[in-house]
Amino acid sequence: CGIVGIVGEAPVAGRLVDALKRLEYRGYDSAGVATLEAGAISRRRAEGKLGNLAQKLNFEPLGGNIGIGHTRWATHGAPTENNAHPHATDQVAIVHNGIIENFRELLADLAADGYLPKTQTDTESVALWVTRELDNGADPELAVARTLKKLKGAFALAFLFRGEESLLIAARHGAPLAIGYGTTEMYLGSDAMALAPFTSRLTYLEDGDWAVITHKGVTIRDGKDALVQREQLLSQTAA
Ligand code: GLU
Repeated sequence: CGIVGIVGEAPVAGRLVDALKRLEYRGYDSAGVATLEAGAISRRRAEGKLGNLAQKLNFEPLGGNIGIGHTRWATHGAPTENNAHPHATDQVAIVHNGIIENFRELLADLAADGYLPKTQTDTESVALWVTRELDNGADPELAVARTLKKLKGAFALAFLFRGEESLLIAARHGAPLAIGYGTTEMYLGSDAMALAPFTSRLTYLEDGDWAVITHKGVTIRDGKDALVQREQLLSQTAA
């Protein structure tokens, strides 16, 4: 039910959990974070309160200066650790708010190529579809652009890629998402509340938009993949 992300210059795991705490008001049943450790996707996930995730991170710390985090309100699949986001293959990790209505068709198509789910969620269909695109030679941007055109439903998504220390991709289709601008870092959040500890400079994605976020800034495209400019605002939400 909440999404956060950091393209950072310092470890992100603890900061992702702190940002997720500010989205607690939305309600959730489980939570998780994924980062890149030496370029490889690493995850920690836990059922229940964010305190459980924080405790897990105390016992098994997660390094990495780029990452995504999620609080889940389960719609498809029980609220277990295995169904908690981020969902990942060795190539990509994703967090998702909302529902992928056509996930059964997507999974059937993927299964024919040997891409099989490990969870009961609608979300995993997106991770697997992007992975197949990457396996077929697409770069991350093209893989996401192609995948977004296949999805039906209302969703916000964020993607983290193996070996890409300066890249998050985010998409908005019926669920809110905002990009935050730091001085040397960039941020992603479901709303200004989540971004408040990091920055007050932000841009709300419009419906259908998808964004490529790097240390240098953000490039936004609309639902037809045309480059667009979106207004930068100064949030009034206090950190
Ligand atoms: N439909 C997804 C799931 O059940 C995402 C739910 C959410 O918005 O947190 O895992």
